[in-house]
Amino acid sequence: MLTSAAKKRAQNGLAPVARGVLGLALVFAPMVVAAMENPHKAPHATPAVQRLLADLATKPQKPVRKELVWSGADIDGDGAPDFLNPTGGAPRGHDEFGDGQFGARRDGGSRSHEGVDYIAKAGQDVMAPISGYVTKIGYAYGGDSSLTFVEISNPALGYVARVFYVKPGVEVGQAVRLGEVIGTDQSLQSHYPGITNHVHLEVMEPGGERVNAAELIVRKMVVQA
Ligand SMILES: [Zn+2]
Repeated sequence: MLTSAAKKRAQNGLAPVARGVLGLALVFAPMVVAAMENPHKAPHATPAVQRLLADLATKPQKPVRKELVWSGADIDGDGAPDFLNPTGGAPRGHDEFGDGQFGARRDGGSRSHEGVDYIAKAGQDVMAPISGYVTKIGYAYGGDSSLTFVEISNPALGYVARVFYVKPGVEVGQAVRLGEVIGTDQSLQSHYPGITNHVHLEVMEPGGERVNAAELIVRKMVVQA
């Protein structure tokens, strides 16, 4: 025999539990369905993710300062660049005398440009594009002593660089480090009136073949600390 109180529990006692289960089922059912439809996608962001999003929305963001810099290739893998833009200027684009990129047409297509031209201001410092020894100082054009080039050889890397239209501030046999000033830019205006003033850089890889310096010295976006 059940007491009246027990009867009451039997009649009403399970009802709230059943209602609770039903309620939970209603809450979770859509999530379960969503999870079944796409098992890789969480139906709702976790509390940790929600907190992170809230933080990002309220905290003032430190502005990220970015800068475009010239970055030289690291050939020997020591973590330091082995090449450098000799003027800091962009490669010369098109002007009435032609284009400044490697392989551009010269003399109506009978030959191709064997270097890369870097825009320069007459009289500005010109930097060593590779480390090494000054192995030659010569004339850019035979029989004309007004325009000169500086050749730097790096025996460790096997690369040679010739930097044209530079009034040398170094001597043959002198050791120069990457980025060290090797002279000053010579104006090209008396030879090619109206040309974009530039330094012409030829890079020879081990074996002596000329290669595109623009593939060794690239523009890179870096984040400033
Ligand atoms: Zn050139």
